[in-house]
Parts: sequence; structure tokens; C-alpha cells
Amino acid sequence: MNVPQQRKVVTEIPGPKSQEIIKRRSEAVSASLGMALPAVIANAGGGILVDIDGNQIIDMGAGIAVVNVGNSAPSVVKRVQDQVAAFTHTCFMIAPYEGYIEVCEKLNELTPGKFKKKSALFNSGAEALENAVKIARHYTKRQAVVVFEHGYHGRTNLTMAMTAKNMPYKEGFGPFTPEIYRMPMAYPFRSEIPVEHVLEEVIHKIEKEIGGKNVAAIVIEPIQGEGGFIVPPKGFLPGLAKYAKENGALFIADEVQTGFARTGVMFACEDENIEPDLITTAKGIAGGLPLAAVTGRAEVMDEIHPSGLGGTYGGNPIACAAALGAIETIQSQNLIARANEIGKIMVDALKTMQAKYPAIGEVRGRGAMIAIELVVPGSKDPNGELLGKLVKYAQQKGVLFLTAGTYGNVLRFLPPLVIGDELVKDAMAVLDEAFANVK
Ligand code: PMP
Repeated sequence: MNVPQQRKVVTEIPGPKSQEIIKRRSEAVSASLGMALPAVIANAGGGILVDIDGNQIIDMGAGIAVVNVGNSAPSVVKRVQDQVAAFTHTCFMIAPYEGYIEVCEKLNELTPGKFKKKSALFNSGAEALENAVKIARHYTKRQAVVVFEHGYHGRTNLTMAMTAKNMPYKEGFGPFTPEIYRMPMAYPFRSEIPVEHVLEEVIHKIEKEIGGKNVAAIVIEPIQGEGGFIVPPKGFLPGLAKYAKENGALFIADEVQTGFARTGVMFACEDENIEPDLITTAKGIAGGLPLAAVTGRAEVMDEIHPSGLGGTYGGNPIACAAALGAIETIQSQNLIARANEIGKIMVDALKTMQAKYPAIGEVRGRGAMIAIELVVPGSKDPNGELLGKLVKYAQQKGVLFLTAGTYGNVLRFLPPLVIGDELVKDAMAVLDEAFANVK
């Protein structure tokens, strides 16, 4: 690996070179864009980001669950280089190429569901969700879309409506598209209502407020990502899938964040043997290049009229080459097993910390998609203030942690799946130190 796999801090973060470029950033780039880590990146690989001042920062976020195979994974680089030299774009709808078809074949094979599947490729997670809803409405000839509290599906107009959290995603950006209905979510840490009762309430609300025969789709993340890594209790997802099936609605699993080995299986739905009618994927699909997909039942995917779906760049040949490299890497390096190993290291360390620090309300997640929810000790009140301090402390020590949560109080861990044990342990040790030092 061309990037040393070691944490090293040689300047303040941001260092002087980063500070200069960040000054230019504030002059040139819209102030609307966030910046979790104020360090300008020069190089990255394995579990390390190297900034232009020479700091080596442990990457516990993988670009928000994107570089599951690591930055510049060799198989991704090789295939992208070959493709970029061969041709860069024809538009798949104008003249096809094999890479697009091969990615669809892989998705049809790898996604859960023992039935014939087909796929279509797009550019971003939000675009995949937009298209999944288009497909569901067209196929069912119905309009209502059921989504959930704490859900996140993107920032386009339709997906903003589907996303739960107002600030920062929706504030001032309305009006939003109609026919989106938000249902209660089973959130074990914050509610003791048994899962059967939450399900009953969801179904009751659908029946009374929408009418089951009007529902085109039920859309849910198998583990909610931006909402705070909320893992629904066993039975919730199968109950929703069953209701959808009995009522002629499609069950759509949004696996944009949970997909591609992240949760210790290829797709998080496998955990409860769910076979969604449609699955949306993006992020981890292509090792950092922009690509997304909708995969699902062939009869549903084929029901749309010719040219009903598409877009200039969807399934760009370079992104497809990257996806084939990423999928090959997941399989050849057995990153599914690796996600579980990494997860175990994190959970063991976090549980030890939880016994020492009462601000850790819960440790949760699956595979290498793990989070802690921070509370004011002695209560379940969200402790966003502590979260901010911990993240800042860790950054100064050379560890990048990402945040999440409806209440802004969740620290989430999504390292690249090629990160070494030592770096994960080191990141956990820095977090422990942060808890001990920040007040
Ligand atoms: N769905 C989920 C579950 C996501 O986590 C995200 C991104 N955080 C999206 C959709 C939107 O993806 P994108 O940012 O690529 O549009």
C-alpha cells in the first residue's frame, strides 16, 4: 500500500497548508456545503487519509460508507485506468457497452431474492430512490409512498420529502412532493413499545390515513443510517414486507448506506431473509466513483415503457469499471467476513467504554456499521454537545469520526473494510482518551 498505515500528527489540524486552501474554499465554494474535517486531503488508502501538511488521519467514515474497499483499491484503479483510456462515455441509451451489463448481472446475482431480477443504473443514491418510486408508482398504478421516522433518502425534491429530518435537509426548501406518508419507526433505545405494537400502529395508520390499496411502495432502510444507525427489532422489516405483499404494494429496501458488505452480509436485508421487490444501492457499489442502481423483480423493472427511465450519465463506463473492481475486491478479499471482524473489535472496545462512561447510552449496529448514542448521564436526553467535543478532540489526535442522528447525538463508525486491526484499535483508544479528557 502506498499510504503508510499509521496515525501521525505533525501539525495542528488544519495545518498551515490546509488553512490556506480552506481560506480559498470559503471564497470560492458556497457556504451551504459542510466540512466535517478541516484538512485538505492529498492521498488516501487502507484506513488512512493523508493531508497536505503530512498528517496521517485514521479514516473511520470511508467517505460516508463509500470506500468499503478502501481508497484507490488496486482493482478499482486498474479497471478505471483501462476504461478511461479506452473510452469515457457513449451514453448507455445511445450505444451500449459491456461494463454496464456486467454490473447489472452482478447486482441481479448478489442482491437477495430467489426470482428473476433486472437492474438500471443511475448516478447517486437520491437518483436511485427517485427511480425506485417512479417504477413502483408506474407498476402499481398507485401513488402513495410510505416512509419512516428517522429515515434518510436524499436531497432532491422527492427524496427530501421522503427524508425525515428538517434541519439541515429540508428547512426552507419546500414545498415538497405530495403523497409521501411518514410512519412510526421501531427505535428500541427510545421506546419500549414492543415491535408487534409498532407494526400494528403502522398498519393501522396506513389503513386509516392512506388506504392499503393506495400504497405504491413501502420504503425503508434496513438499518437507518443518517437517522442514527437505528436497528429495527427483529420482525419489524418482515412484518412490513408481508403487509406490502398482501396489499399489492412494493417493498423497497434502501441499501444505499447498508449495502456491499458493510453490515457483515452483502446486503443488510439478508439478516432476516427479506426479499425486497426493489433494492436501491449506491455508495459502496463503486469504490468512490458515482454510481447507483435499482435492482428488482424482472416483471416490475420491465413494466416501464421504453425510454421511461434513463439519464445522460447513469451507469457511466468508468463508474461501471470501478464497480466491477469494487465487487471483485469485496469477494476476493472476503470483506464480508472482515466487516464482522472489524465490528467485533469496535463493539468490544465500545462496550468497555460504556461501562466507564455513562454518557454512552447504547452501542448498536451490525458488521462494520456501528454507532454509540450519547446521552446526558442518568437520562436519555440527547447529548449533542459532548458529541461535538469528542469529534473535535479526536480530529486533533488524527482520527476522523462521523456523526449522525435525528437528535445530533450519535457517533457512527464506518471504516473502510480494508483497514487493519491496529488502526481500529488505535481509533478506539483515541476515543477512550477523548471521553476521559473532554468535559
Ligand atoms: N439513502 C440512504 C440510506 C443514504 O444513506 C443516502 C446518503 N447518505 C442516500 C439515500 C442518498 O444518497 P446520495 O447522497 O448518493 O444521493
